[in-house]
Amino acid sequence: ACNKTEKIIDNNKKIAYLDTTLSINKRIEDLMSRMTLEDKVYQMCQYVGLEHMKKAETKISKKDLDKNDALGFYPGLNNDSIAKRITQGKIGSFLHVLTAKEANQLQKLALEAPLKIPLLIGIDAIHGNGLVKGATIYPSPISQAATFSDALIQESNKQTAIEMRANGMHWSFTPNIDVLRDPRWGRTGETFGEDPFLVGNMGVATIKGLQSNSINKNSVIACAKHLIAGSSSINGINAAPTDVSKRTLFEIFLPPYKRAVKEANVFSIMAAHNEVAGLPGHMDSFMMTELLRNRWNFKGFYVSDWNDVARIANWHHVAKDFKQAIEFSVNAGMDMNMHGPFFDEYLIELVKEDKVLEQRVNEACYKILEAKFKLGLFENPFVDIEKVKKINFSKEHQKTALEQARKGIVLQQNNSNFLPLSKKGNRKTIFITGPNANNETTLGDWVKPQPKQNYTTILKGIKNLGKKYHYNINYYNAGERSKEITTTKIIEAEKHAKKADIIVLVLGENSFRHDPKRKTTGENVDRATLQLSGNQLQLAKNMLKIGKPVIVVYVSGSPIAEPFIEEKATAVLNTWETGAFAGQATAEILFGDVNPSAKLPLTIPRSVGQLQMVYNHKPTNYIHRYNTELKTPLYPFGYGLSYTHFSFEEPILSKKEFSGKDDVITATIKVTNTGKIAGEEVVQLYIRDNISTFTRPVKELKAYKRISLNPGESKNVSLDITANSLAMYNKDFNYVVEKGDFTIMTGNSSASKDLKETTITVTNTIQLKE
Ligand code: BGC
Repeated sequence: ACNKTEKIIDNNKKIAYLDTTLSINKRIEDLMSRMTLEDKVYQMCQYVGLEHMKKAETKISKKDLDKNDALGFYPGLNNDSIAKRITQGKIGSFLHVLTAKEANQLQKLALEAPLKIPLLIGIDAIHGNGLVKGATIYPSPISQAATFSDALIQESNKQTAIEMRANGMHWSFTPNIDVLRDPRWGRTGETFGEDPFLVGNMGVATIKGLQSNSINKNSVIACAKHLIAGSSSINGINAAPTDVSKRTLFEIFLPPYKRAVKEANVFSIMAAHNEVAGLPGHMDSFMMTELLRNRWNFKGFYVSDWNDVARIANWHHVAKDFKQAIEFSVNAGMDMNMHGPFFDEYLIELVKEDKVLEQRVNEACYKILEAKFKLGLFENPFVDIEKVKKINFSKEHQKTALEQARKGIVLQQNNSNFLPLSKKGNRKTIFITGPNANNETTLGDWVKPQPKQNYTTILKGIKNLGKKYHYNINYYNAGERSKEITTTKIIEAEKHAKKADIIVLVLGENSFRHDPKRKTTGENVDRATLQLSGNQLQLAKNMLKIGKPVIVVYVSGSPIAEPFIEEKATAVLNTWETGAFAGQATAEILFGDVNPSAKLPLTIPRSVGQLQMVYNHKPTNYIHRYNTELKTPLYPFGYGLSYTHFSFEEPILSKKEFSGKDDVITATIKVTNTGKIAGEEVVQLYIRDNISTFTRPVKELKAYKRISLNPGESKNVSLDITANSLAMYNKDFNYVVEKGDFTIMTGNSSASKDLKETTITVTNTIQLKE
């Protein structure tokens, strides 16, 4: 086939697959007609970028891979052999190519191959293209979810796509639509929280932002991950088994995938490290093929997670070797291997041995090529290096990152309305300490070290704004790693604190992956407790003893369960990991330039022993009590304070009876700002299926709207209840709305005391099409 193609090119005949006047389908068909089995398999192979390659030290053999995890290293490969592979057309995709220059270099090599198929370059642009130096770092997904603003999330992802394309990257491994059920999981900050509806909305917004209305030369492809349920692993440990029922899969974990596929046309899906009920995600043909591909009509391609095809053998031990693992995975629906050699050799053998149908390879290759054509890579795989600097961290992108930061910070506690600080003019000195006060923790996971001028730490933010309000700011570094906080340093901090009027304590966890020693959470570092790590609680206790107001600022992608602090501190601000503008947004909230408006996208338990603790639990979860712990959370889902107050009237329904699949009932809620300053509020609507054939959650979020109100102003907020809001899976796993009464609850948190109720009636059982 190579010779044949060369001849075609040499003869300078019109090459149909390069003819932009033809449809993409025609072009793919033409290209594939020129490809051998081998060429098609090569499209399914992904490799990592040169930075990783430089680190490749291990020389493990092909055979070793059957038994050992390669941990990201390329056995026996180096830059030269990779280059050779590209020019031979043996690589379809790369991940973690970190500069535009490298992307261009690789594409140039790809054009030397006989068929000149450009490379598809993927990267974890989880909240901005953060692995690239100079990118805009938006707040991490958990903080994005706390904004309850789908539009803002779509916008930041649109901007991320622009930055990615400018840098030669075409594929982001996001959104992570794992519905969080166990916050011990170190990746909590990468999720959109515990609610399937909110996660689905944020996932859809992310995909639409990245992919645009239809994938094109300016957009990128998104990747919904990880199929499935790794966010509920046994023990909260990343990649540990998950053991949930089919019903829980369908009710909790799968809805965001259904929507990613049906509403947002996500073009790729990544399988999960973990097994579910004994079956590793990478060989789950029910999930990949029967359900998502055939029943829900997924039109993109599947990519493996890092080394996870090989891990079917060397981790899970359900295949005898790498080759058999490939057989199981590709037959189950896997289309691309992340990452490294031998996958191609083995897959070619497997097809020749009739263990994998060539049809499977054709399908995979087709989809991967489709992405490349849609992205316009055949027309131009290169980027203009000169433009990169202008596009990365542009003014417009900074604006969105700042707005997200302001709207994602949750005010958890504000005793006697101590905050904002602006009105405390008589207090002159603020003392700041704590491990996260002055470092990049605020940038979150999946971020490389960034230029110092591109982000504000909490300290810098408070210093900048403190000037405006005539405060002196004193800082003492009591240790940047939570373990470094020694008794001596605590005593020293106390001395400083005693001289100040207000103490600001910046505590939390650290997911910054480029300082593994500092990392206390994030990917592959899970939490055995939800308390503060190291000596942070001791530091807090000593500060709280002094008798001065103590404001605790948490910087952490996952929740901190310290009831003592919530009770004793003057105020508690949960800033998550708020990205480039964390310091500025935090300071603006502390001083009152911005009124906080974010809501918790997850329940914050009081202690780890309360797990699994979610607001959308079943009716019997809390019939009985614990011996030594309360059965209430520290803070409920949907909760978050403001500097003003909002009053909510009873929901008024457009009608009481719901009778057909296209029916809609609108609930209208009058909300009034009864306080003295303007503010934003998130109006939330929950439902409960009063009597059902299978037990249903006590509450489920089904609609929300963020509104803004001046003092004294009222607004009527309308939220729709549709068949989808009321549907469930029946005993045959058909999607239906069952006849009967549903309670509708509206208000500004999931706590019953914050909700007003009414009832609607579904007059007849409605079958829904999926
Ligand atoms: C993670 C994925 C990520 C991939 C590539 C894996 O370890 O689980 O979420 O996309 O690495 O970086």
